[in-house]
Amino acid sequence: MPRYGCGYPRGSDLSDDLIMTTANKVTATLDAVVVGAGFSGLYMLHRLRGIGLATRVFEAGSGVGGTWFWNRYPGARVDIESQEYAYSFSPELEEEWRWSERYASQAELLKYVNHVADRFDLRRDVQLDTRVTGAAFDEATNRWTVTTDRGDVVSARFCIMATGCLSVPKDIDIAGAARFKGATYRTSRWPHEGVDFTGMTVAVIGTGSSGIQSIPEIAKQAKHVTVFQRTPNFSLPAQNHAADAAKFADWKKNRHAYRAHARSQGFGVLIIDQHERNLADFTPSQRRQEMERRWKTGGFALGGSFADLVTNESANDEAADFVRERIREIVKNPAVADTLSPTNHPLFTKRPCVDTGYYDTFNRSNVSLVDLTKTPIETITETGVKTTGANYDVDAIVYAIGFDAMTGALNAIDIRGRRGETLKAKWSGGPKTYLGLMVAGFPNLFMVTGPGSPSVLSNMMLSIEQHVDWITACLAYLGDRQLGVIEATQAAENDWVAHGNEVAATTLYPRANSWYMGANVPGKPRVFLPYIGGVPMYREKIEHVAANGYEGFALATV
Ligand code: NAP
Repeated sequence: MPRYGCGYPRGSDLSDDLIMTTANKVTATLDAVVVGAGFSGLYMLHRLRGIGLATRVFEAGSGVGGTWFWNRYPGARVDIESQEYAYSFSPELEEEWRWSERYASQAELLKYVNHVADRFDLRRDVQLDTRVTGAAFDEATNRWTVTTDRGDVVSARFCIMATGCLSVPKDIDIAGAARFKGATYRTSRWPHEGVDFTGMTVAVIGTGSSGIQSIPEIAKQAKHVTVFQRTPNFSLPAQNHAADAAKFADWKKNRHAYRAHARSQGFGVLIIDQHERNLADFTPSQRRQEMERRWKTGGFALGGSFADLVTNESANDEAADFVRERIREIVKNPAVADTLSPTNHPLFTKRPCVDTGYYDTFNRSNVSLVDLTKTPIETITETGVKTTGANYDVDAIVYAIGFDAMTGALNAIDIRGRRGETLKAKWSGGPKTYLGLMVAGFPNLFMVTGPGSPSVLSNMMLSIEQHVDWITACLAYLGDRQLGVIEATQAAENDWVAHGNEVAATTLYPRANSWYMGANVPGKPRVFLPYIGGVPMYREKIEHVAANGYEGFALATV
């Protein structure tokens, strides 16, 4: 039973008249609605229950797990070490769960999140197969009316968007895609029953993390795979292996210390272990040794080699050369190695990929690479892919072309704040938030890992828990004081947006045509979407804001 300990005027205590002013067929009256039942939505539900709020979660998928429910393509796995990419809020959960690999596969992550949903009895408040289509703030009642594609009309005091940063697939922006008569797949909407490519010729379009993880696996099955590459990406070897029992025991014993250390790191990821000194502080042979050591460690380790990797062009060039050398070492055909070597953006300014056997896959006789910078795709035909250079007839096309990142899921919902202003209109020049948590003009609407927060530039689990904990504490604070409205002030939002842009401009990130910059989606404003000031600086800021009575927010009674 929910415990209404927090002092909010309960939804059911409101007069029907009051509710009818916002909608004429309210089907439920709640304290909070959470949109999305991925890792963030589920934890949000758990915490809101803990402070006694009547909450419902709406989830478009037919199961919980968000990213790990949808992205079932072959080779899908996390690129943060499993024990770190796990909830920390429950010592019992940590104690009982065993990861089988250093980097858990999608299947294992999905099993984990389902285990969490059962263990904390979360499912009874999660409505699956239901897409939230609208959320409108009523200034008379200070409540949100949330509508869904299933006809729900829910009145809630608070609305929390746990919609994910990479959850809306980018539209297929390639001419003729609908004409293809063979099988079409998207990595982000992979069939649940899996796909058997045995004996098939396959085109894979896209060489971001999803392409780079799936290509080696598809190549093991298919008769032939043709990879269509527009921009080569830097990819780092995962060095994945079975989970190490000794390491797990050590983690269990020292997890508080490990997590505290992660929180002190710029990206919130232990393996990055950011060096405090710049590249120029080392001799050439020391630099090389450091990079080699980190390459062997695997995953994102290389990213911490020197303090100035993403701020100093020449330091970045040297590290990028190191990766290009590794590519030439692995790929036997020098022309193919060349095509796979990124040269048009600094290292790490596009999300680095973490792979298992990606470059080596191009040594297989059944894999070929098409450089779209030389011969762009003209159109998809009934039988395959036509570039300016050739026709490639295939049995199947796999699109690994990415997402409308960070703003796509929010803009897909008709969100209306004060005076009916839509979030989409407010964000037409790029997202504007205060701390990536709230938006001026949209009271009581929270985002988990929203634009303007470290989110995708950190271990997502760390940032998810941080935001959920912060939102929970904030709502408890309001409840304890009989307050029912919180809204970012315009001034605080302006300052935060300006600060975020200033920090991004001190780095090399804006140089790349990345999804961090919105550059992958035609027509999307070119704005750096996450916050690059670092996890510790961000944590300090949001903790300071809370400790000072939610500085930068206007609080009011209902
Ligand atoms: P992505 O990084 O945006 O990569 C999309 C790829 O498709 C790029 O190579 C892009 O080329 C290409 N592309 C897009 N439109 C195209 C077009 N019209 N014609 C030809 N090529 C086109 O997307 P993603 O691979 O799905 O990864 C997105 C993010 O999800 C990752 O960066 C990561 O944060 C997360 N992710 C993580 C993991 C993991 O390891 N845990 C796995 C998958 C995804 P351009 O670069 O030229 O635009």
